[in-house]
Amino acid sequence: MADKGLLIVISGPSGVGKGTVIKQFINDPDLKLSYSVSMTTRAMREGEKEGVNYYYVSRQEFEDTINNGGLLEWTEFVGNYYGTPLAEVERLRNLGRNVLLEIEVDGCMQVVKKIPDALTIFIVPPSMKELENRIRGRKSEPEEIVQQRLAKAQKEMEVSGNYRYIVCNDDVELAADIIRVIIRHHMAKRV
Ligand code: 5GP
Repeated sequence: MADKGLLIVISGPSGVGKGTVIKQFINDPDLKLSYSVSMTTRAMREGEKEGVNYYYVSRQEFEDTINNGGLLEWTEFVGNYYGTPLAEVERLRNLGRNVLLEIEVDGCMQVVKKIPDALTIFIVPPSMKELENRIRGRKSEPEEIVQQRLAKAQKEMEVSGNYRYIVCNDDVELAADIIRVIIRHHMAKRV
């Protein structure tokens, strides 16, 4: 049987470019990665797909899943629920896949409590001003939500010290290469 795969958590303030960085290495066959698709109650953004970016559910469905113990972790972020389906993470790890969670900081702390050897990586922006530009550049949300995301970003930066690694996304390819090295290192330590 394959060794159980790693559980990798990547966090970082909204707008930091986590998705863009992850895209650079998620399909690298050497890393044996599987992306964990979260459940959310937030509306689908343009270009997103059901089952690819998220499973989009109602608040009732989300709360039922919490009550059935179906989530590894969950949180409420800017008025919406987000959570990681537990069964799928376990199934993939048991197949030897390294499962990657892209979640915010509260969720990461819940994961670390349950799975202390989770590999946690926090992505930081080159500056807070640059982060604000990136959030505003998305132009998909009203000012009130932008302000909430910025406030949450500031709070998230304050707890970045709880992560095992902090990687700056100044250059996307460099950030992705650094994360590749970190994952390879931890894969090698297992054997
Ligand atoms: P967005 O609305 O921009 O897609 O995501 C907002 C925040 O929720 C991001 O910081 C993202 O990492 C986080 N997030 C996405 N899925 C999950 C999840 O399953 N659990 C937790 N705790 N956070 C999540």
